[in-house]
Amino acid sequence: GKTMRLDKLLAHMGIGTRSDIRKLARQGRITRNGVTASDPGMHVDPGEDQIAVDGERVVYQDYIYIMLNKPAGVISATEDRRDRTVLDLLDERMRAFAPFPVGRLDKDTEGLLLLTNDGQLAHNLLSPRKHVDKTYYAEIDGPVGQREQEAFRQGVELDDGYVTMPAELEVLGSSEDGAKIELTIREGKFHQVKRMFEAVGRKVQYLKRLRMGTLVLDEALAPGTSRELTDEEVDQLK
Ligand code: URA
Repeated sequence: GKTMRLDKLLAHMGIGTRSDIRKLARQGRITRNGVTASDPGMHVDPGEDQIAVDGERVVYQDYIYIMLNKPAGVISATEDRRDRTVLDLLDERMRAFAPFPVGRLDKDTEGLLLLTNDGQLAHNLLSPRKHVDKTYYAEIDGPVGQREQEAFRQGVELDDGYVTMPAELEVLGSSEDGAKIELTIREGKFHQVKRMFEAVGRKVQYLKRLRMGTLVLDEALAPGTSRELTDEEVDQLK
């Protein structure tokens, strides 16, 4: 198979910096197929060779898939001059994979955000032709009912003239004071949920993404925390 430098592989796996890894190698703490690997520049085959640090196997992974429960107040970007980004919420090991968010949630939106370094998967999920379902929970400033359900089913005209694809609105509760709803859309225009409600004369006061395609927000994740996807979740997304 393809080979790569031992220090690059271990750095990629978040074991440490190249200089940390040089030190580990010098100290004889790295093995390849059970034999001490003292040269950090040696080429290894990540698919074939068994690499271990302090006797613990390091399994090479090309890709990382992270589910983040995005809190309000952070930006869905990899860097920002003023604000904290979603990457600031990940641990160092995860960041070593250079993940990026698949799509964006607004700064004040919470909930499911997938981060990965798998460009192909990201592309597939974001492709406008794939129409991946996204379900949001929202709190609205006034009553919502059949009129809005029908409008969203037909498609509404946004402020820029774009007419949305059919979307499904489920009303969880509604009174003169406001409504709690779930909305499933199959596209992802800028501020789409907020603008759809504006199109019917309502304002979104709270927004949280619950689902994206087959991926469901793990409610055990507190806002600001993340976990890697299970193999099953990754397979279903592909
Ligand atoms: N729609 C919005 O208006 N905002 C989001 O963050 C996501 C969907």
